[in-house]
Parts: sequence; C-alpha cells; structure tokens
Amino acid sequence: MRQFATVLSNHPIAKGAMEMKVSVDTNEIAPGTFFHVKTSELLRRPLSVANVEGNVVTFLYKVIGAGTTDLAARRAGDKLDVLGPLGNGFPLQQAGKRVVLVGGGIGVPPLYYTRRVLAARGIETVAILGFDTKASIFYEDAFRELGETIITTVDGTYGEKGFVTGPLAQVDADVLFSCGPEPMLKAVAASHIEERYISIENRMGCGIGACFACVYQAPDGYVKVCSDGPVFRAEEVTL
Ligand SMILES: Cc1cc2nc3c(=O)[nH]c(=O)nc-3n(C[C@H](O)[C@H](O)[C@H](O)COP(=O)(O)OP(=O)(O)OC[C@H]3O[C@@H](n4cnc5c(N)ncnc54)[C@H](O)[C@@H]3O)c2cc1C
Repeated sequence: MRQFATVLSNHPIAKGAMEMKVSVDTNEIAPGTFFHVKTSELLRRPLSVANVEGNVVTFLYKVIGAGTTDLAARRAGDKLDVLGPLGNGFPLQQAGKRVVLVGGGIGVPPLYYTRRVLAARGIETVAILGFDTKASIFYEDAFRELGETIITTVDGTYGEKGFVTGPLAQVDADVLFSCGPEPMLKAVAASHIEERYISIENRMGCGIGACFACVYQAPDGYVKVCSDGPVFRAEEVTL
C-alpha cells in the first residue's frame, strides 16, 4: 500500500547510522518485511521494519549514498512516500524452542522487531550481532533487554573480536534467522543449526516483483528478493 507517512524523529544512533520513526496507517506488520521508501533518487530504497509500536514504525539505516543521505536530512513533520509493508518475513511458526538471531551491520534492524515478537510469544532467543568497530554498534541495550546478546567487532574494539561465526559455532538452537552482508550469510547458511533462514538485502527496483532488478540465483532457477523474499530458507538461494 502506498501512503505518505509522517516523520516523527530522525537522528544518529552510531557512526553513520540513523534511527527514523514514522507514523503509518497500517494493521499488522510481520517481522522481516520492509517498506520501499521514496527519496530524492529515481528508484525507491528498501528499508526493513526495525520495530513497530502501535502505528509507529522504526527504520534503522546506514547512510551510504544519495538516497540514504536524503533520508538523513528529513525532519519531524516531513512526509515520506512509502510502499509497504512488502515481502515475506521470517517464518515465526517455524521457531522451535530456541532461536538464534544472527545480524551483521545494516542486517541487524529486522532482527530487533523479530526478537520482540518472538519474546512476546514466549520463545527464547539468543542474538549474535556483528559490527566492524565499537563506534558502529547500535541497539545493544535494546537487544539485551530481550535476552542473551553477544556482540562481535571485526577489529576487537568491543565484545568478542572477529566475526559472528565464532560465537555461532558454540550456540545450541533449533532455528536460525539471519540478515547481513552476503559473505556473512554464506557462512551462517553453512552452520550447524538445523533450520536456517536468511534475509537478503540486495539492490532493488520496483519492490513488487515486476521489474526483475533484484533476482537472485537459486538451485532451480532464480528468485525475486522483493516478492519471493527477502527471507528465504538457506537452501532456496545460491549464495
Ligand atoms: C529488503 C531490504 C531491506 C533493507 N533494509 C535495510 C535497513 O533496514 N537498513 C539499511 O541501512 N539498509 C537496508 N537495506 C539496504 C538499503 O536499501 C541500501 O543501503 C540503500 O538502498 C542504499 O541507497 P543509497 O541511495 O543511499 O545508496 P546508493 O547510492 O544506491 O549506493 C551507494 C553504494 O552502496 C552500494 N549499495 C547500495 N545498496 C546496496 C545493497 N543493498 N547491497 C550492497 N551494496 C549496496 C552501491 O553499489 C554503491 O556503491 C535493505 C535492502 C533490502 C533489499
């Protein structure tokens, strides 16, 4: 659904990362889905739903190019042209007794809302969140309020030094939900957890399955990330 959301707040939360809250007119929003946001650029930019409280949706985004730079300049009261919620999120019905959430950088946002919804259903989660350095970390306290949270930094300036795969190897869980850069997804897709679901954040065009800009290779052809995903069973895509 296309609508004009109202920006409620928009401010930095870590090095190069922003938190934007918008009020939208929507009913249920499933964890792992996204909104396609109109910026100064021709194509919309997809942003995951990082949280939902009533009719307020939170986006957490990294400022990397023209579109997100434009978003970072929006102020409370501005209108934001959004399409959504779009896509298929994490299959919460598959969540067994214990779920491990593995996020890397800008892949962390959808896991926060996912964790909140799982916690409300009484499902135990452990979160492993990877960042490049201490200054890039965001939402650590928010994640800790919901359960065990392990932080890794590549340069070792905070938490465990290295990649998320280090602590993941020690975790006992039935299901894995993950989102992050492709090399990380490739590594977690090969982990020992029995059921693995990954969310892919690639470049996107229309957001509704019409333009084929976001196609991704699959063992038996291809999938469209926007309309078949962005969440897939690890075996469904060729990373
Ligand atoms: C389903 C989905 C959900 C997403 N959720 C979030 C989110 O919650 N928070 C967030 O920060 N980002 C998220 N992203 C990524 C976000 O959409 C891009 O960072 C954004 O579109 C970049 O726009 P830009 O105009 O600022 O940068 P551009 O000017 O388009 O690009 C700047 C540079 O970054 C590269 N780049 C841009 N997008 C990507 C990408 N997706 N993967 C790899 N390289 C890229 C470009 O090639 C270029 O070098 C999501 C992507 C998808 C598909």
